[in-house]
Amino acid sequence: MDQERLEKTISLIHDVKYGGLPTHFPSLLAWDKGLLPLRKQKNLWEASLAENPKREIGIYLNVPFCKKKCGFCFLDVKGGASSEEQAEYIHAVENEMAFFEPVFKNKEITSVYIGGGTPNFLSANLLKELLLNLKKHFLIKPGTQISMESNPDFFDEEKAEAVAESGITMLLMGIQSFSARINGENGRAQDVTRIKNAFSLVRSAGIKYINADLLCGLKGQTEKDFLKDVIMLSMLRPTQIHLNRIKPLSGTLPPKIKKELSQWQQAGLEILRRQGYSVLDEESACLDGIRNVQGNYFFHLENSLLGLGAGAMSHAWGKLRSRNTVAPLEYSKSANAGIGFSELSLEIGINEELRHYLMNTLLHGENVLPEQIREKFGPEGESIYMELAMGMEKNGYLEAAGGGWICPLRMQDWLGVTSSIYGNNLLEHIAVRNGL
Ligand code: SF4
Repeated sequence: MDQERLEKTISLIHDVKYGGLPTHFPSLLAWDKGLLPLRKQKNLWEASLAENPKREIGIYLNVPFCKKKCGFCFLDVKGGASSEEQAEYIHAVENEMAFFEPVFKNKEITSVYIGGGTPNFLSANLLKELLLNLKKHFLIKPGTQISMESNPDFFDEEKAEAVAESGITMLLMGIQSFSARINGENGRAQDVTRIKNAFSLVRSAGIKYINADLLCGLKGQTEKDFLKDVIMLSMLRPTQIHLNRIKPLSGTLPPKIKKELSQWQQAGLEILRRQGYSVLDEESACLDGIRNVQGNYFFHLENSLLGLGAGAMSHAWGKLRSRNTVAPLEYSKSANAGIGFSELSLEIGINEELRHYLMNTLLHGENVLPEQIREKFGPEGESIYMELAMGMEKNGYLEAAGGGWICPLRMQDWLGVTSSIYGNNLLEHIAVRNGL
């Protein structure tokens, strides 16, 4: 493959937006298209659970509805779904839960994340029904973190209480900006005057942990605007704050803009540090060390995740990756007809898990030791790693450090590490399938 085609293929791989999940190996650009037969899905999950009894199991539940789609949103959400469409969707998700109930019988679920979309756009009754169904079909371990994304606009007393009574332990509030002007310029329908009251309502209802997100790089936003938002948010004292860089709807941010926005993030984190927050990484800080479990990329390298609902991604460790039908109404139709749930899938094995682990740890700047790989993937995994790492060191993409290897994370290293871990055949397959 010539250099230009190689670079295009790798940039496609890294452009795939996986929501909060770490970059998959292999990328979903290489997965098989078509409705996954239910019998096969069930068998692969059962095999994964039987062979990996110690791995944790998380549930990700997607609610793909919002009042109106924001101008910068890259997610597959439906704006303004009718109450019939919402009810039909909750019914479809329950069908999916019922399908998996016998597979997960006696298996404890140790984390739940309800994302979207805007889950609290649902009525209080539908939200309660969704959470009741979850507890009816799965064994949720006592004390499990149950997190839910939300928009401050949709909290009134009834909904805040419904959320707390349903067992949500952590709320993630999408603020993005406190400025009505900036929200307006970015096509976001949000009443910023309701934000403070939403915090009071959910706290009075008994929710202790609140995560909140801000965006930097919005249209019409200056660094001063962003830092003002950081100060305003810190005054509301959420337990964790994320200062996210905007992601363009297609492609990636130009390096110059990325660098500038990273400086805004650093300045924002410095403000939070002065306000008593502990900085967790380059974009988040927290007050008391309680983190969203599924927000930690390591969780996804080591454990299984059952995705429920439209567009949800599943990972049956060592056996299967799949993505549910993305279009909400199509998902509802096929789930309610009992035909199937996933439109994209790939059978995987330990080799894919090893490469997934290496891609993410090396490209997060971790020092990866051979003995750590032997412990997780056995002697065969260790020798695959040694061979790959020595090749990458020879080509200048990794440096030997402390008995292992570390990636200096320059642009050429992203290309080099990704192409070494993928190998020519898989890259060629992805290039051809994606018209390169
Ligand atoms: S509220 Fe969030 S999920 Fe919904 S459209 Fe806006 S950015 Fe996307």
